[in-house]
Amino acid sequence: MIKLIKGAEVYAPQYLGKKDILLAGSKVAAIEDNIEIGGEHVQIICAKQHIALPGFIDSLVHITGGGGEGGFTTRTPEVNFTDLSLAGITTLVAALGTDSITRSLENMLAKAKELNQLGLNCFTYSGSYHTPIKTITNDLQKDIALIDECIGVGEIAISDHRASQLSWQQIAKIASDARVGGMLSSKAGIVSIHVGDGTSMLDPLLEVVNNSDIPIEQFYPTHINRNQSLLDAGVEFTKLGGVIDLTTSSNTSSHLSGEIKCSRGLHHYLEQGGDIDNITFSSDGHASLPEYDSEGRLTSLEVGQESSLYQEVCDAVKHEGISLETAVKVITSSPAGILKLKTKGKIAINYDADINLVDKSDLSIDTVIANGKLLVRNQKALVKGVFENEVI
Ligand code: ZN
Repeated sequence: MIKLIKGAEVYAPQYLGKKDILLAGSKVAAIEDNIEIGGEHVQIICAKQHIALPGFIDSLVHITGGGGEGGFTTRTPEVNFTDLSLAGITTLVAALGTDSITRSLENMLAKAKELNQLGLNCFTYSGSYHTPIKTITNDLQKDIALIDECIGVGEIAISDHRASQLSWQQIAKIASDARVGGMLSSKAGIVSIHVGDGTSMLDPLLEVVNNSDIPIEQFYPTHINRNQSLLDAGVEFTKLGGVIDLTTSSNTSSHLSGEIKCSRGLHHYLEQGGDIDNITFSSDGHASLPEYDSEGRLTSLEVGQESSLYQEVCDAVKHEGISLETAVKVITSSPAGILKLKTKGKIAINYDADINLVDKSDLSIDTVIANGKLLVRNQKALVKGVFENEVI
């Protein structure tokens, strides 16, 4: 029940120096220069070689699989518990994606409950790309207000040939329902927006903001690193008070089609004067990543990796000259603020004991603690899904 992390360099995400962190049950109880406490009920975790970071937050994971746009053989599999825990992800938001025909919100909610029972913090978005919105209770407001895990709706697709081609009034109606559902249950009621490669980019959202009373921060557009023009439009969007999300999972084809690597995108964003609180990374994990040959023929399919989330933060530190204190915010305090997860995203007293210990020399993940429970220690998974036999 009581854990004492000794001597870690703490980034909360702001740098606090070398500290001891006392965890009582699922909460952080104390952060001091030196805490002396012993006894058989106290587990001491020596962290002299480690940096302590808040548990990572991934705001978009297709936990029951995604893809399927290339037929039934291209549906990606469900996420494993350890795909998340070994990637340092202690909090995530699950979404359906393109396919709400062969995949259901009920199935996704059950999967979220599985991940939560094993020790993670998994939230869900109601709806999918498709409109009219599919929900569990037949009412978006009810889904958000009454289902504990449900904190918003999405991905609602805009500027994409797969989208339902919504008018600004239809988008405003969805946002208003999500907002009210959120207000009734003290949740964000956020509207996750999938932005495709269409030329209208973020214009449909600006149309809503300019023509209705929906505030810009109700929207959480993702895939903004799809190309340079969209990233530039994203920077402008944040200057109006909006927030943006960059997608970390990637492959050669996406880079060839003009996608900006997240770490590079973050560098560009900060150079343009963007506010770090208004930008996040998410993995889009378990989406399908198609690979095409020079003739545009599909040659292979990969599954988006959740481990790309923290990898891009490491790349931002190692290759883009961004401080760890700043870079790690995009997967900790920034998404916690946007998603209104009030006890997440920071190492602070009375916050949830979600803490990752990473190696000082190469930043690799050594230990993962979620709600005070050890999930990973010495790079080995201590908790696995019931049907997970092999852990890589
Ligand atoms: Zn998407």
